[in-house]
Amino acid sequence: LDPIAQNFVRQVPGCLFSVTYPIPLKSKLQLVAFSKPVLNDILGLTDAATSEVEFVEFVSGSLILPGSLPLSHRYGGHQFGYWSGQLGDGRAVTLGKFVSHLGERWELQLKGSGRTPYSRHGDGRAVLRSSVREFLCSEAMFHLGIPTSRAATLVVSDDPVVRDQFYNGNPRTERAAVVLRLAPSWFRIGSLEILAKNKELELLQQLLDFVIKNHFPQVDIKDKDRYLALYSTIVSQTAQLVAQWQSVGFTHGVCNTDNFSLLSITIDYGPFGFMDEYNPRFVPNTSDDEGRYSYENQPDVGYFNLEKLGDALKPVLKRSQVKQLQNILKGYERIYKDKFMELFRRKLGLLTIDEDDENLAAVFLKIMEDTKADFTMSFRELGEIDLREILNTKEVPKKYWALTSMADHEWFWNWVDKYKIRLKQEGIDEATRQILMNKTNPRYILRNWMAQEAIERANSNDFSGVQELLRVLEHPTDWEPEAERAGYASRPPDWSKSLKVSCSS
Ligand code: AMP
Ligand code: MG
Ligand code: MG
Repeated sequence: LDPIAQNFVRQVPGCLFSVTYPIPLKSKLQLVAFSKPVLNDILGLTDAATSEVEFVEFVSGSLILPGSLPLSHRYGGHQFGYWSGQLGDGRAVTLGKFVSHLGERWELQLKGSGRTPYSRHGDGRAVLRSSVREFLCSEAMFHLGIPTSRAATLVVSDDPVVRDQFYNGNPRTERAAVVLRLAPSWFRIGSLEILAKNKELELLQQLLDFVIKNHFPQVDIKDKDRYLALYSTIVSQTAQLVAQWQSVGFTHGVCNTDNFSLLSITIDYGPFGFMDEYNPRFVPNTSDDEGRYSYENQPDVGYFNLEKLGDALKPVLKRSQVKQLQNILKGYERIYKDKFMELFRRKLGLLTIDEDDENLAAVFLKIMEDTKADFTMSFRELGEIDLREILNTKEVPKKYWALTSMADHEWFWNWVDKYKIRLKQEGIDEATRQILMNKTNPRYILRNWMAQEAIERANSNDFSGVQELLRVLEHPTDWEPEAERAGYASRPPDWSKSLKVSCSS
């Protein structure tokens, strides 16, 4: 029996997974990038492994290891606010569970490995451009300290993929790529939603207990309120994840419930974007006309998604327990705000709590917004600059290009005065403040134009840009001569303003 014959597109009621073998790419497979930390520290392999034929076959989906039963996962989701029914892994396959030498449990998943029962109208493939973005951003987020899935490898082929997007008047043919990505679990809010919507309640309960047993040691599996305890944990962790996104100017782009992990890690990198100029209404995804998933909406969208998670739990809760869902969710705003302030305090080099800190952070952001100053570099430069010096001269040296923009604002010097007073109260000296802030505020983030440059070089078969960029993003707070030369901490080039990212991937 041809295993791939099982991959026909269909509704799959009453199950969580379908056995789905990857469909190997045909022509000229090349392993073009890999993450050293994932390879060495998680998979326990040396770099030399990447030159083994079997390794490349494995990470591209043509070699299935003995004992592996490849699965695609059935899930549903609310997309842009509306229930979409069955979605599922339309182009991803989980190869199996891997336990690292540290005892950590990782699920290895291929993305772009061909059609599955959940492909709907899609081809099951991923193009090089979007695979480069997912590969780089997963790793960049990890090194920023933000919970995320990881990316191990990037393989490109010469197999053509046609995307519906029109490019110079013609359908665009691109090359198919595959990323091997890892997460402790790939379950999403949508994994539970589909079971609740379809009244598959035994399965819903089974999945919930599995998730608790395997991923939530803090929840007692024998507790009759365990689903509420689980909910409470996810509410709290998701609030904190979104606050972490905000703290680095990361905008996910497609915050549908199927892209929100039950483990509150960042998953499914598509038309995401890191803000350059600080603009709360920043929307990275050109297909998001209403700006539903703008930077400033992410906290509310997190709340919306958690409300949907609560709805999915209702069928397995007693009436008295259902009443508590709303109370738990009410805690979201507080947890989010506390985490947000904890992170922004740290960004400002503050270790203690003062009731005016919220205002201090808000005014700094407001000046940034009014002057369209760069989000990442404004914080970074504030940590690099000598406050005594600029307060003396009332001038910001030109090399601090982001703060130079902010200094034009009528509130700027007043804000610096207030900040200085606050620091005095903190009892922190200038050198310590600088060290602290420069360990917190990244100098290098995955800006759209940087990803684009790496993609364009990759399109013309030069993959060194991807690998070089990855090396820099692995140390986002460390000053790096090569990164400086490449302009990664400079004002983004003008052409970057016209860059667009859509859902087509
Ligand atoms: P996303 O918005 O990227 O998270 O994707 C939403 C759904 O569309 C998921 O079920 C994906 O697996 C599916 N999907 C996206 N692209 C493709 C594709 N090229 N082929 C098959 N399914 C896809
Ligand atoms: Mg998705
Ligand atoms: Mg996607």
